[in-house]
Formats: sequence, C-alpha cells, structure tokens
Amino acid sequence: MLKNFLASALLVWGVGAVAQLNVTTTIYPLYSIVKEIGGNKVQLNNMIPFGVEAHGFDPTPNDIAKLSKSDIFIVSSDAMEPWKDKIIESLKIENKVFDMSQYVHLIEMEEESLEHGHDHGHNHKHDEHEGENIDPHYWVSLNNYITMVKTISNLLIEKDSSNREYYEKNSAVYLEKVNALKSKFDASMKTCSNKKILVNHDAFSYFAHDYDVKQYSVSGMTPESKPSAKQIAELIKLVKQEGINTVFFEEFASPKVAQTIAKETYTKTDSLRPVENISKEENEKGIGYLEIMEENLQKLKVAMGCK
Ligand SMILES: [Zn+2]
Repeated sequence: MLKNFLASALLVWGVGAVAQLNVTTTIYPLYSIVKEIGGNKVQLNNMIPFGVEAHGFDPTPNDIAKLSKSDIFIVSSDAMEPWKDKIIESLKIENKVFDMSQYVHLIEMEEESLEHGHDHGHNHKHDEHEGENIDPHYWVSLNNYITMVKTISNLLIEKDSSNREYYEKNSAVYLEKVNALKSKFDASMKTCSNKKILVNHDAFSYFAHDYDVKQYSVSGMTPESKPSAKQIAELIKLVKQEGINTVFFEEFASPKVAQTIAKETYTKTDSLRPVENISKEENEKGIGYLEIMEENLQKLKVAMGCK
C-alpha cells in the first residue's frame, strides 16, 4: 500500500518536473487561443469564470493567488480589465504581463456610439482610464483574431522553445480553421441588402469596420446599462427607419429591452454574441469561438439579407 502510494507520488512528481508552462489569461477569447495552441504543454487558467458577464468582473483573492504562480499573464486591454494594474503592481509581476492590445489593430470608439450609448453614468467602465478611448472588443474581427493566434503562438515558442514544433503544428491547424471561417464571412458579406444591425452593446464595431456594416446599440459600451423610455422610443423609430428586421440581444445580459423594441416594431429578436465569454457547458462540449462566430454569421445573414 505504502509502496503504491510512493510510486504514484513519484509519478506525479515526475510529471510535474517537466516544468509545464503556467499561463493565466483574463478573458475567454485569449483563453480560447492558448487552449488550442498550448494543448497539454500548458497549464492554463482563465480568470473570468465561464458564464459570467465579462464587463462586471472583479477578481477574488483566490484568482490572485493562482495568478501569482503563473509564468505568463495575458491581458486583453486596460479598457476591458481596469482592475488588473493594481494586482500586477501588488504581485510585482510586471515582467510577466503580455498585453494583447499592443499587437492587434485597434479602433477608437465611435463618437456616435458614445452619444448613442445614452447615459452611462457610473456604470461606464471603458473610459475610466486616461487616454483610453479604444474599443476593447477587437477579437470580434477575424483579422485581429488571426493576429492573436500568431502572436500567442510566437509567445509560447519564445517562453518554451523545447515544444516549438508542437506549438507550430497546433497553430497551423487552428489558423486553417479560422481562415476557413473568415472566407465564409468575406463571401457572405458581399451579398447583403441591408448592412445595418441593432445590437445590445457596442461590441461589434470591429466586425462592422471589417465589413462596412452600420452598428447601432441599445446600451452603449456597457451590456447591463438600461436605456430610458425616451431612448427606447428613439430606438423604435430607428428600427422602422433603417428597415432593421432583427433586434439582437446577447447572452449574459437581459433581453428585455430588445423584446420591447421588437414587439413595438413587429420585428424579431435573436441573440448575437460578442464572444466575451461562453458557458461552462459549452466549454465542456467543445463549443468555442469558432462555433459561436459561425452561428453569428448565420444570424447576421438573416438580419442583413445576405446570401
Ligand atoms: Zn463588451
């Protein structure tokens, strides 16, 4: 019995001794890529739990304890994670931080979106940081997502060169899938009759930018902020004027306003997901970024009259 115990303890120690790279990511889109490329060579921990609305996240002491053991901390942006700097400072892990926003193509938040975003009040988290006017949802652009895959592949190779071939192979396999999806988007988006969408919050600017689509939103940059009765009346007018046939809501935020607008305009509601997060069940079933973006494509095609 004791012998068996010692043998298994040795085995565990033996596996652990292969110094697996320990990576912490903040938000699901980053996690989705490290998971694909890092595979079993990386011990991966995502801070924002599955099923949680990402903008409202606040880390727990347990999150911070886990982070302190990480070799790399991949963050998405100041705008998305205004809570991160205090933790990084207190753990003194500045040299382990990798900020993806420095590698992708960023766009500013549109003035019109800000105005249209109604009164954000204290809930507005995106522009609390000085000099921050970037739209943090850059992964919604497949072009950016491709850049993110390549960047994370390079990062893992740099930190763990003994597994270079493994990371390169996984990266190539994943890129092929992402590129196939991008080709589908490219082809469909050329055929739309009404390139206007009304979404829950301003999370689709990068998609809109890539494909010359006009994005309107119900609640500006913060998924949970509620428009007033007057603003809802304006949105109803807008839906009629712009010939919008679908009012999109998103998971992890309330569909109520979308339902009200749809009812008043005899249109329908549907969910469109910025892939800020997925549910635990989806992760277990292997549903991730690609599957959700594919689903988004099918819904966008219906909403914008594309072939
Ligand atoms: Zn968002």
